[in-house]
Amino acid sequence: MAKKKTCSFCGRSESEVEFLLTGLDANICNECVERAAEIVSNYTDQTRSKSKSKANDIDLTKVPKPHDIKDYLDQYVIGQDEAKVTLAVAVYNHYKRLAAKQSARKDDDVEIEKSNIVMVGPTGTGKTLIARSIARLLGVPFTIVDATVFTEAGYVGEDVESILSRLLQVADYNVEQAEKGIVFIDEIDKIARKSDNPSITRDVSGEGVQQGLLKLLEGSIVNVPPKGGRKHPDQDYIKVDTRHILFICGGAFDGIEKKIAQRLNTHTVGYNSVRNTMKIDPKNLMRYVQPMDLKSFGLIPEIIGRLPVLTSLNPLSREALRDILVKPKNSIIKQYEKLFAMDGIQLEFADEALDFIVDRAIAYKLGARGLRSIAENIMTEAMYDAPSSKKKTFKVTLDYARQQMEKHGAMQQVIDNA
Ligand code: ADP
Repeated sequence: MAKKKTCSFCGRSESEVEFLLTGLDANICNECVERAAEIVSNYTDQTRSKSKSKANDIDLTKVPKPHDIKDYLDQYVIGQDEAKVTLAVAVYNHYKRLAAKQSARKDDDVEIEKSNIVMVGPTGTGKTLIARSIARLLGVPFTIVDATVFTEAGYVGEDVESILSRLLQVADYNVEQAEKGIVFIDEIDKIARKSDNPSITRDVSGEGVQQGLLKLLEGSIVNVPPKGGRKHPDQDYIKVDTRHILFICGGAFDGIEKKIAQRLNTHTVGYNSVRNTMKIDPKNLMRYVQPMDLKSFGLIPEIIGRLPVLTSLNPLSREALRDILVKPKNSIIKQYEKLFAMDGIQLEFADEALDFIVDRAIAYKLGARGLRSIAENIMTEAMYDAPSSKKKTFKVTLDYARQQMEKHGAMQQVIDNA
């Protein structure tokens, strides 16, 4: 009599299960197959996540040193050495803090605290450019957000927590990675308190937003709406610990010079001591910015306390603007040269034409932001004609530049586009 087939794992007979798979010396029923598949899948998930977190580990020997970071920034950003050095140190320390956290021993009670940064400087001097250039170099998730979109809960706008939604997105929703990231918050000055007495007018995008931001800066577990925007009661949140996220804030702080001048003049002791050691440059008062000036400007002291590294950017001189046109790795002029080269044309700019672009940018008070639109106005006609012409060279002379700029509407367009 043939032996009754049973599952070699659970012992049940063929008639007790849906089906039985037969092997060389053993059989397995459909239910045991399912259970085995589950066990295998759990095991691979675990080992994968272990090796993934190993891959996420920071290897300090491979991280760029402050000098490397500064050298890299020098390729893209003209001047602003003080800000570059401050940022290079802060970013390197960020990596160190992450490395220390991952290898922390129980008996090691020195915990490196993070030092969020605030960059103060006139608009168009390179704050965002520095942040973007650093992002390119880094191996941690990095995002740039604009503080102006945030408003207090209950008003049109976005919740402050959506800052972290962007970070999660760039980290492919890997929470562990996002928690090591760096966030650049642009236009932080726009959430300054509008008046000294908040009860008089509603200040929905001012102090309320600062309070919200404080929670993120000081390090806490935050419920993040995965898609950003407003928090919604029916939405699932992702919990993100912000303790190790580095925040870099930037702002033009228009008018802060007045507060700095007031402080320098009224604090006679401070003023004298500064005056005794160095001459005050009245054209660049931002250099002397101190945390108390940010307070006078309308940032709450708690926020200032969470942004311990304060650095300033200088207004761009004529020489700096001239360098910006030609020197950075992807300078405006290099970009035009490349565009023309793609049509087999060698493009050349006369020195006087470059000076002319700089002069216009200064005259219209557009700073570096204006350089591109002025150059674009000068070059549009040439870019229109060149691909159809047989010429192999094209020189932008002072006369040509002037003539293009004087064409109807060109100047207005520059001002509108800036
Ligand atoms: P902001 O300080 O307002 O953030 P940005 O960094 O956005 O200014 O600068 C605007 C543009 O001006 C940049 O895209 C860049 O082309 C140019 N620019 C500004 N400052 C510099 C600089 N120091 N070096 C090189 N380019 C600069």
